[in-house]
Parts: sequence; C-alpha cells; structure tokens
Amino acid sequence: MRYLIVSDIHANWEALEAVLRDAEGQYEQVVCCGDLVGYGADPNRVTQWARERLAAVVRGNHDKAAVGLENLDWFNPAAREAAEWTARVLTAENYSYLRSLPKGPKRVGEFEIVHGSPADEDEYLMGVTPEYVLPFLNCRLTFFGHTHFQGGFRVCRTRAQRIAPPPPEARCVVVGLDPGWMYLINCGSVGQPRDGDPRAAYAIYDEERGEVELRRVPYAIEVAQAKILRAGLPEVLAERLSVGY
Ligand code: ZN
Repeated sequence: MRYLIVSDIHANWEALEAVLRDAEGQYEQVVCCGDLVGYGADPNRVTQWARERLAAVVRGNHDKAAVGLENLDWFNPAAREAAEWTARVLTAENYSYLRSLPKGPKRVGEFEIVHGSPADEDEYLMGVTPEYVLPFLNCRLTFFGHTHFQGGFRVCRTRAQRIAPPPPEARCVVVGLDPGWMYLINCGSVGQPRDGDPRAAYAIYDEERGEVELRRVPYAIEVAQAKILRAGLPEVLAERLSVGY
C-alpha cells in the first residue's frame, strides 16, 4: 500500500490542490494528522474533501477550536479570530464532521497517526530524547503534525536524530526506514508551513519499499492570500504564507 500523508491543511485549498496534483496516481489511501481548518479561507471546501477522501484522520487543536471543543484563551488573537470566523461559516454537515473527529493516536495498518504526539494530542514535538519518546511509541512508525516543521526524528535506545526536510532547491528527500530505529515523521504542513520554506509540504509512504518521501510543491500562494483578505481575516495570516513562517 502507498499512502499520501497530509497534515495542517488549515483551510488552504490552493495548497491542498497542488499537493493532490503533484501526488496524483502515486498513492492508494490518504490519511491526515489533523488541523483541516483554522487560518485559511476555505474551511468548507477542505472539510468536504476530507469527508469524501480521507481513509483515516485525527483531530487537531484548530479543528477542536472551530467547533467549540477548545478553550480559545490558549490561542493568539489572529488564530482566535480565524477560529471564530470558521465556526460562523462552516455548514452544519462540516461542523458535525469536525466535531466527530477522533483524538489520536489512531492506528492505520502497521503505523500510527497523531496530531501532536502519542502522549498528548496538543504537544509540540520540537526535539526528543530516547528516554522521553520510547515509552509512548506504540509502533515503529508514527506520523505527526502540529509543529508545521517537516521532518521529525528517528530514535534508537541510545540516541535520537533529526530528519531534515528537502532543501529549498529540491522537491523531495527519501527516508529509508531502517529496522534498527523507530520513526516519528512529521509530513509537514500543507497549508501553512513554518519551517522557512513556503512550499506546501506532504509525504508519501510506500509500505512495500519501506520508504517515506518528504516532498514540497509550490502553489498559488497569492490566490490563497487574496481569499484570506477578502474574507476579512487578519492580514498577518495572508502575509506569513509568502515567507513560510
Ligand atoms: Zn496546525
């Protein structure tokens, strides 16, 4: 089986469309590590797509925020405004779909998906040690999101190593899964990358080959930005897409 792994789409339809075009014909199932909505201007279109196409998904903190399952005091003013706007524009069907999203971790075949970490759905995994993560890893391969930093970590009993995303001049890097290591892979954010590379991020996991490809693809950023401004959402949410932060 080949999986398209996406996360943190954040209602950015243009970025999602570019990812789907780029990955066309190269996967059998799509899974998502959360944050379908929040920040972007197309929450209904993205959620509708998710309802039709996702084989597995876990909820993100912005999905919870848009449907009254999260205390908005934790959000910065722009994120909060976007969550309130999203709650207002969601159709009843999309609202109840988002409200019904399961909390991670969720098992998919031989791997797991989570939003933050297997221990806590809202945790930002920016750095790890074997002592910290090994007790909560349930399988050899876990995909996560939430930080919007593509890459992640591989961990063995004695050490943890960072996995780098593709450099700006490359479209992808291939991560071969070595049986001696456990993998926590961040597929990156489709709709609002924060690792300094504004291109949409995603991953393809090829189970038979034992490989994860971390990919980046350019998209029509200016179209997504214009929609954010037209919706009356905070300008900063449009601006940050150009710099990937
Ligand atoms: Zn997110």
